[in-house]
Amino acid sequence: MQDIDVIVIGSGIGGLVTATQLAAKGAKVLVLERYLIPGGSAGYFERQGYRFDVGASMIFGLGHNGTTNLLTRALDAVNVSQQTIVDPVQIHYHLPQGLDLKVDRVYEKFLQNLAAYFRHEEPGIRRFYDECWKVFNCLNSMDLLSLEEPRYLMRVFFQHPLACLGLAKYLPQNVGDVAQRYIKDPQLLKFIDMECYCWSVVPANMTPMINAGMVFSDRHYGGVNYPKGGVGQIAQKLVEGLEKVGGKIQYQARVTKILTEQGKAVGVQLANGKVYRGKRIVSNATRWDTFEQLLPAEEIPYNEKKWQQNYQKSPSFLSLHIGVKAEVLPRGTECHHILLEDWEKMAAVEGTIFVSIPTLLDPDLAPAGYHIIHAFTPHWIDDWQGLSLGEYEAKKEEAAWRIIDRLEKIFPGLDAGLDYLEVGTPRTHRRFLGREDGTYGPIPRRKLRGLLGMPFNRTAVPGLYCVGDSTFPGQGLNAVAFSGFACAHRIAVDLGL
Ligand SMILES: Cc1cc2nc3c(=O)[nH]c(=O)nc-3n(C[C@H](O)[C@H](O)[C@H](O)COP(=O)(O)OP(=O)(O)OC[C@H]3O[C@@H](n4cnc5c(N)ncnc54)[C@H](O)[C@@H]3O)c2cc1C
Repeated sequence: MQDIDVIVIGSGIGGLVTATQLAAKGAKVLVLERYLIPGGSAGYFERQGYRFDVGASMIFGLGHNGTTNLLTRALDAVNVSQQTIVDPVQIHYHLPQGLDLKVDRVYEKFLQNLAAYFRHEEPGIRRFYDECWKVFNCLNSMDLLSLEEPRYLMRVFFQHPLACLGLAKYLPQNVGDVAQRYIKDPQLLKFIDMECYCWSVVPANMTPMINAGMVFSDRHYGGVNYPKGGVGQIAQKLVEGLEKVGGKIQYQARVTKILTEQGKAVGVQLANGKVYRGKRIVSNATRWDTFEQLLPAEEIPYNEKKWQQNYQKSPSFLSLHIGVKAEVLPRGTECHHILLEDWEKMAAVEGTIFVSIPTLLDPDLAPAGYHIIHAFTPHWIDDWQGLSLGEYEAKKEEAAWRIIDRLEKIFPGLDAGLDYLEVGTPRTHRRFLGREDGTYGPIPRRKLRGLLGMPFNRTAVPGLYCVGDSTFPGQGLNAVAFSGFACAHRIAVDLGL
């Protein structure tokens, strides 16, 4: 490929949305992916007739209305589409003190389910979740593009002044502060913590209100929709679209260096020594990998240092990819579950267990008569370092059985019905996803002012942009798609496209 306009390092959803958006605008785009397939944390792998999602299974952004359905919009932009399956319940919570609750797709039904446990807080519950809708309605009334582009900001402000003022008001706020305005019951506040923790991996007082407004409302608006064929299909389709509009992708192309000249990013070097030059370089690797591995760690820019003082790497996960006989799951079992027995352990290692059973929505992902259960729980990489192979395998097995024992409470007979089990550790996440310490992404080190501290796409290195979950607005497929739209928008303006 000659005269490359934009080189994208990595084909996670953030990288692919950037690449497709730019290629659709006529830029010459090359994506370099270190692994064999695209998708990163939204990829898949196949074993013995099962197609497992690597990470994400609860997918927002595949709806049909409004402006926040960013995955649908990204696919549309390159003339590809993805069949989806409606998920009627976002999460079935199994929480301490017998709090057993389903988050129904229908907003009123969810409020009723929750209020049935907290009658005395019914008005507060409604006022809190209604306030989240205010954030969502602001976001959902405008095109979500680069907040680093002044002309766009002016245009949206004149078109939607009230929505913009609304968002400006919520930008520095966290969920905990808003929740405490309306709710006093400590157990209900713990529930709100869990509502945040299950995607932000921090409690409500550290979770930005903007992100919560999206998640707590969109689940009842565009809803949670599972892509037919597995989550890996989204990335596969984006690549199909990228190639349709003239973009290119290379696999097994691990970038080891971002090349700079007079301080400006001008190209990349691969592990095999090959060099590519481009007018703009986009890194879909995490900011830690970008500024400490791909650029000299001793030259880390001041604002990146500052960001690292405010944000740290979240833990990674221990993941169990399980194949199980279908009869283990009773009729009416929901796709996504959260299990926690002790509120004090919500954020502890092996505290909260996240479960997805995508075959309840798409049975073709497993052999007939079997289901997939993906269970994962936070773990730090430090606990998995320095082990011999034997010790590592033994530790994995012990941890897996601890999780299976706990899951037996919600899925009795799980152990007896096991057909397949593969265990991934933080080391697996680091190795296959190329993410430092296998981290899920950045989390605030302490209570910050909402989303104000999250960096956008431009970096201190001219010509170099970051995209993905360590840029605004953070983790999750729809969030990194937002980051991709914003990154492509900023670059398109910079290149005069
Ligand atoms: C266990 C788990 C469960 C999750 N569940 C959900 C969920 O239910 N819903 C949801 O919305 N989100 C979920 N997430 C989060 C979501 O998957 C991520 O936030 C999102 O996929 C991150 O996308 P990204 O584009 O930032 O980067 P990544 O997915 O990390 O992709 C980066 C890509 O860059 C490549 N790369 C990195 N370095 C290099 C290099 N040097 N050279 C070339 N290529 C490189 C990697 O191989 C990878 O393909 C989950 C994540 C995990 C781990």
